[in-house]
Amino acid sequence: MADSAAGTVPDCIFCRIVRREIPANEVKRSSDAVAFRDLNPQAPQHVLVIPTTHVAAVRDADPAVVSRTFAFAADVARDLGLDAGGYRLVTNTGPDAGQSVDHLHIHLLGGRRLGWPPG
Ligand code: 5GP
Ligand code: ZN
Repeated sequence: MADSAAGTVPDCIFCRIVRREIPANEVKRSSDAVAFRDLNPQAPQHVLVIPTTHVAAVRDADPAVVSRTFAFAADVARDLGLDAGGYRLVTNTGPDAGQSVDHLHIHLLGGRRLGWPPG
């Protein structure tokens, strides 16, 4: 069985969710990724999808991790019944994008018509 602490850092809030030290409303988990509901949802379906290994943002990540995490997000969207209506995957990176947690995360947003361009 995979060690859920491997590759995590002590004080990162999303690593703590990976290690199940703080509660999260989990939607799906694998050895590589965890999907859980955002505390402050911006759409009827708003899930955060993170790699289980700590990396700050997409610019720092191994392409294989990015690929697996996006593919996992698409699996979650399918599980939530979003394939027909569609959905958005977005990863905020750095201050101009408003990144507030420095552990790579993909926002999965769906369940309503989403505006474009984003704010
Ligand atoms: P960012 O602004 O970095 O792109 O997204 C961070 C997201 O994490 C925000 O949408 C925020 O609501 C969510 N968030 C922050 N802390 C927690 C937490 O402890 N649990 C959960 N489920 N979501 C969190
Ligand atoms: Zn982390």
